[in-house]
Amino acid sequence: MPERAPLGVPELLELDRRHVWHPYGPMPGRAEPLVVESASGVRLRPADGSDDLVDGMSSWWSAIHGYRHPVLDEAVREQLGRMSHVMFGGLTHEPAVRLAKHLVDMSPEGLEHVFLADSGSVSVEVAVKMCLQYWRSLGRPAKQRLLTWRGGYHGDTWQPMSVCDPEGGMHGLWSGVLPRQVFVDAPPVEFEEAYADLLRETIERHAHELAAVVVEPVVQGAGGMRFHSPGYLRVLREACDAHGVLLVFDEIATGFGRTGALFAAEHAAVTPDVMCVGKALTGGYLTMAATLCTSRVADGISRGEVPVLAHGPTFMGNPLAAAVACASIELLLGQDWQAEVKRIESGLRDGLAAAAEIPGVRDVRVLGAIGVVQLDHPVDMAAATRAAVREGVWLRPFRDLVYTMPPYVTDDADVARIARAVCAAAREG
Ligand code: PMP
Repeated sequence: MPERAPLGVPELLELDRRHVWHPYGPMPGRAEPLVVESASGVRLRPADGSDDLVDGMSSWWSAIHGYRHPVLDEAVREQLGRMSHVMFGGLTHEPAVRLAKHLVDMSPEGLEHVFLADSGSVSVEVAVKMCLQYWRSLGRPAKQRLLTWRGGYHGDTWQPMSVCDPEGGMHGLWSGVLPRQVFVDAPPVEFEEAYADLLRETIERHAHELAAVVVEPVVQGAGGMRFHSPGYLRVLREACDAHGVLLVFDEIATGFGRTGALFAAEHAAVTPDVMCVGKALTGGYLTMAATLCTSRVADGISRGEVPVLAHGPTFMGNPLAAAVACASIELLLGQDWQAEVKRIESGLRDGLAAAAEIPGVRDVRVLGAIGVVQLDHPVDMAAATRAAVREGVWLRPFRDLVYTMPPYVTDDADVARIARAVCAAAREG
């Protein structure tokens, strides 16, 4: 192998600033990112030689088993010895087939067919496409709008952006250009009959033009880290059934145990017509997501004038990603993951109780392995991040939120440390 001169941290940062886009970042870059040299267990190792940081973010919900897990490393290595990628058109392979079977077996009853997308946003694009195409196939092309509640987040490509909150959300820049969807207010935390009525009435009123309702069940993630009653999911299911509208659950953040149920839909015992998963699907190892649908949706599409789902990314069904996804799911289901998530939930509840006393804190909430402190002012991201790093923890506060969703393998001492860091960030942000 050719020798490669290592780059020092200052040089890396300068090149990064000049050439590399970061999420929601300007160019050239303004913020100074932390250079990570490696990661292991729940710890990130900074390249500047400073102390390891406990990862309170699971790399945005994904690294549920931590980093460099021996079982997952081995799954990738083993698959690498066979093939890292092969086209999925006309070919298939064991990792993809096994993954589809795992997903069908573990998902709410009735979801039978799996499209292996390459990112969460694409899985939502595919979900929307499935719904629109379903109604076209049934001779109802007017049913092409989507209903959602405000405060959602579904990704950064076009259709997903259109169901994010156009005014309060991250994609306000594009309001007026994106497809115009139907919005209702964000759901209240507790079940309120008046809000349930609003959902029912809006679905009924727009049913003639609605292809689907698209929501994040139980937890609205990047749009505001809000929780809501699972009762609303039952209301959506009943109203969608009554008025001929499909129901899509975006479980990209909530899936694979994060809320204490394998999928948040289980809190309401509801099966959506289409479900998107991603993030923790591969244990955070590789980019892969999936869109699952019922036979009703798949059969509907197959009966249409164009009887195929016209979507086929180059890296669809990537064998490396599929192999590590299988290993991650087997690892999760092979242990008492509920106990681990409960343990983290109670650690976060104990540790974050102190946050309620901090001046400027508006709300503290915990569900499963998710802890949120909401401020009454926009957080100073740099100051809050520095405060967390001083406590030995990596967090990514944003808007008015300091929040954490640790890997499920985080031990009690590290959960307590993360909670202390969240409090420090809330105090100093
Ligand atoms: N839906 C939800 C609920 C998400 O949290 C995200 C990612 N934050 C997405 C969709 C988009 O996924 P990706 O970033 O993998 O495109």
